Amino acid sequence: MRLPKVREIGEALRSFFSAPYTTKYPAGPSASFPAYRGLPRYDKDHCVGCGTCAQVCPSQAIEADDDVPGKVRRLRVDFGSCIQCGQCAEQCITGKGILNTDEYSLAVKDVAAPAAFETVEKELVLCECCGQVIACREHLLWIKERLGAKAFAHPTLLLAAERLLAEVEPSKPKSRLRREDQIKEACARCRQRIVTIDDFSGTGSPGL
Ligand code: SF4
Ligand code: SF4
Repeated sequence: MRLPKVREIGEALRSFFSAPYTTKYPAGPSASFPAYRGLPRYDKDHCVGCGTCAQVCPSQAIEADDDVPGKVRRLRVDFGSCIQCGQCAEQCITGKGILNTDEYSLAVKDVAAPAAFETVEKELVLCECCGQVIACREHLLWIKERLGAKAFAHPTLLLAAERLLAEVEPSKPKSRLRREDQIKEACARCRQRIVTIDDFSGTGSPGL
């Protein structure tokens, strides 16, 4: 019985003079363990606004909202719903658009406060023929880069890049399409109509 008591006294003395194992969190910071998979954050330089992360999120914590008049796509992660599974980062098409950080604190005074969300905004490209959303400009440029020389076969991809170089106002949506509308940023449906049907020929479908 005596020996355990001596050991306990030794342990007590060692603990008394060594640094505490516990932290003062939340009064002070507490570092995460290495490789901790925490809250996701967007990397604005590598996110192209494709929306894949919102589609694969199992808890539907990511919302993709298109402001068509403003030509902006907003992707927003609600940290209150995020289960930190890492699917968004794993399935991101660029591999670097969103990454899990080592942040873990969800404590906010107001659940609607900006600190409770992670947001990224990207410019939308609208179809010049019908006004529907085509994709985010950076997404089109990313596809163009990957296609290389093959991108020259697609006017929308070329125009997406050229509009960065010059201030060219997109034309207004129109009710009838002709072959001259080829060189426009057009959605897949309108491009199919431009290529296969000339509305003025009388054989095409009526206006949009
Ligand atoms: S590029 Fe990645 S982070 Fe950005 S919207 Fe697409 S999947 Fe999400
Ligand atoms: S970590 Fe998982 S739950 Fe959180 S936003 Fe990404 S996919 Fe959704």
